[in-house]
Amino acid sequence: MILSELHNGKNLKTEIGKTSFDSEFDIIVCGLGTAGSIALIAAGRRGIKTLGIEKLNCMGGSATAGGVSGYYFGLEGGIFEEIDRKAKELQADYLTEGRAFHADAKKYILEDEALKAGTEISYGTSVIGVFLDGKKIRGLRCVTPHGMKNISCKILIDATGDGEVCAIAGAEFRYGRASDGCSQPYTNVRYMVKDGKLGYSNFDAGYIDPRSGKSVSDGITHAGCLHLMERVEENERIVFAAALNGGREGRLIVGEETLCFEDVISGRVTDTPVFYEYSNHDTHSRDWAFESEILQKWLTVANLWGQNFTVPVPLGTMIARGYSGLLSAGRCISVDHDMAQSVRMQRTMQKSGEAIAAAAALSLKMNVEIKDVPYQLLRDELLKSGCLNSSFNGVLELINDTEILKETLASVHPGIAIWTAYVNKGNFDDMLSEWILSREENLSKHSALALGLRGNPKALPLLKKIVMERDMFIPDTKRSLRGHRMASAIYLLGELGDTELIEELAVIFKSALPFDIRSNAMTALLKIASQKPEQRENISSLLLSVLSAPDFKIELLMKVDITVENMTEYCRILVAKHLDAWGIKHELGGMIREDKLSLREKSLKFVEK
Ligand SMILES: Cc1cc2nc3c(=O)[nH]c(=O)nc-3n(C[C@H](O)[C@H](O)[C@H](O)COP(=O)(O)OP(=O)(O)OC[C@H]3O[C@@H](n4cnc5c(N)ncnc54)[C@H](O)[C@@H]3O)c2cc1C
Repeated sequence: MILSELHNGKNLKTEIGKTSFDSEFDIIVCGLGTAGSIALIAAGRRGIKTLGIEKLNCMGGSATAGGVSGYYFGLEGGIFEEIDRKAKELQADYLTEGRAFHADAKKYILEDEALKAGTEISYGTSVIGVFLDGKKIRGLRCVTPHGMKNISCKILIDATGDGEVCAIAGAEFRYGRASDGCSQPYTNVRYMVKDGKLGYSNFDAGYIDPRSGKSVSDGITHAGCLHLMERVEENERIVFAAALNGGREGRLIVGEETLCFEDVISGRVTDTPVFYEYSNHDTHSRDWAFESEILQKWLTVANLWGQNFTVPVPLGTMIARGYSGLLSAGRCISVDHDMAQSVRMQRTMQKSGEAIAAAAALSLKMNVEIKDVPYQLLRDELLKSGCLNSSFNGVLELINDTEILKETLASVHPGIAIWTAYVNKGNFDDMLSEWILSREENLSKHSALALGLRGNPKALPLLKKIVMERDMFIPDTKRSLRGHRMASAIYLLGELGDTELIEELAVIFKSALPFDIRSNAMTALLKIASQKPEQRENISSLLLSVLSAPDFKIELLMKVDITVENMTEYCRILVAKHLDAWGIKHELGGMIREDKLSLREKSLKFVEK
C-alpha cells in the first residue's frame, strides 16, 4: 500500500506495506461544507456507512461559517430545499431573522439530519494522507483531537472546496487563469445591521493562493484589517466577521470529464447531466483585458457579464481522472477556470453533493466503478428528489428573428444580439454592413462591434470613430459589471491588427481614462505587435515611454469597489515579458521591485504561456 502526502506543497508517495486501520467506512466525505454536508446526508440516507470529516466545528462551510447565507441563482430542487425548510422552522422558534436561511439554524439542521441518517461526524479533523493501492483508494490518515488516525474507506469524496484531498492523493488539478495564474478574489463576509435590519456585506479583499498556508494566513489578517479600516456609516454597524474566509476558486481537479466555458457557451454539452447550474459568468475580476480570448469576447465586446445561461454537468466532472474511488463535490469539480466562475453557486454545489453521493451509493451496491453506474438508474433517482431538473431548453437563448436582432442592436443592451451575430455561421455580414450605415447611433455602432467580432475589417472605420470620439457609452443591463463601448472597440482593433491608431492607443494607455479602456489599449498594442513583427520596434518604444515614466500609475477597483489595486507593476511585467520574447532591449526590469511584488504580480512573472 502507498501513503500519499503533501509535504511543503509537493506530493510525496511512500510504500508502507500492510497497514492496520483504526476504523472502517464505506464512504468518507472530507469537508462538511455546502456540498459535503449534503453528500454526507444523502449517502447516510441510502444506508451507506459514512463518515464526515470537517476541520471546523460546524457543518455548512461557506454557507454557515463563511456567512454566505443567501442564494445567487442556481436551480431549485433536491435535499437542500428540505434542509432549508426545516432551518426556517427552527429559526422561527429560536433565532433572529435570516436571509435565504439562518446560518446557525442551517448548521443545526444539517447536523441533525446527518446523525438521523446514521452517519458519523468528526469535527476538528483534517486529512493529511491518503492510502492507495496503485490508484485505488484504500483510506485516509487524518489528525483529530485524539491524535492521528488511519481510517479505511472504499470511496473518498473531496468536498474541501480547494481540492485538498485530491492534491494529497497526488491527483492532477488546474489552478488559476492562463494569463497570470491567478484565481478569483477572496472575501471575508461580514454581517451588518443597517437601520436596524440584518444583512451581510461582501467586498473583495484581494487575492490569496489557497495552496499556500502563508498566503491563506496573510489573507485572513489582511481581511480583518480591511473591516476596521473601512468607513461604517452612522446608521450601520458590523455584527461580526465570518470565521471562514470566503474563497471563490481554489484547485480545480482534473476529472474524467471537464467542463470548458467555450464548449458550453457554444452549446457543446453533455446529454447525460446529473444536475444543472444556472448563472451568469460571475467573475469578480475586473481586469478583463487579461482574460482568455473567449471571455474577452463575452465580457468586453458583448458585455454579457450579467447574461445567465444553463450548464448541464456530467458525472465525470466529479471523478478524479485515472483514480478509482476518488471523487469530488463542490467548487473544486473538474471545470476550467472560465467555467468555474459560473459553476459554484450554493444551490448547485449542494446538488453536486447529492448527485455524487447517489452515484457512490449505486456503485457500492452494484459493485461497479462510479463511471460505470448506469445513467438511467442515477437519473431516475435524481429526478425523483428534484436534484436533477427535468426540463432543459438549451444553454443560451439566442435571437432567431432578424427584426428582433436589429431592434436589440439598436437598444441600450445589445449584448445577446452581438453574441448571436458572432456565433451564427449564416451570412450576417451583409446585413451588419448595411446596419453600420444607419443614422441610429446604437444600431450602427453595435453592428460594428458584431461585425468586428466576426473578424470583418469593414467594421474598422466605425470602431476607430468610437475610439477617437472617446465614446463612454455603457450598456444599461441593470447587472453590476459592465464595460465601456470604447474598450470593446479597442479590443477589436487589436484583434483585427489595425495599425492606424497605434499612437492614439498609446495616448489612451497613458491617460486618466477608466481601467478597462487603458488596459485594453495596452493589450491591443501588444496584440498588434504580436501579429505584425514590423510594428514591434515602434509599439515597444511607445509602451516603454509610458511605462518608464516614474509617475506612471494605473489602478483597478475590485468588484465591490472598496479595494483599489495598483496595476502599474503588473503592466510593466507583462510588457517586459513580451519585449523579452521579441528580443527588444528595455530597462523595465530595473523599475520592478522584486521584494514588493503582490501575489498577482509574482504569479504573472512565473506563469509561462
Ligand atoms: C464571499 C462569497 C460570497 C458568495 N456569495 C454567494 C451567494 O450569494 N450565493 C450563492 O449561491 N453562492 C455564493 N458564493 C459561492 C458559494 O458560496 C460557494 O461556491 C460554495 O459555498 C462552495 O461550496 P463548497 O462545498 O465547495 O465549499 P465550502 O462550503 O467552503 O466547504 C468546504 C468545507 O471543507 C472544509 N475543509 C477544507 N479543507 C479541509 C480539510 N483539509 N479537512 C477537513 N475539512 C476541510 C472547510 O472547513 C469547509 O467546511 C459565494 C462565495 C463566496 C466566497
